[in-house]
Amino acid sequence: MAERFVFALECPECKRRNYHFFRGKKKEYKVELSKFCSQCRKHTAHKQTKAE
Ligand SMILES: [Zn+2]
Repeated sequence: MAERFVFALECPECKRRNYHFFRGKKKEYKVELSKFCSQCRKHTAHKQTKAE
């Protein structure tokens, strides 16, 4: 019964939140992934942000 929180991956160039995912609260480190941004039409280093 682990608690799960929703996070978003934000494009650093257009600040658009393109991806959402669930993860436990314990892992405090920030995720940074190269993801395709439909706004920029290229891969950028998306960073984890909180999604409410
Ligand atoms: Zn973008």
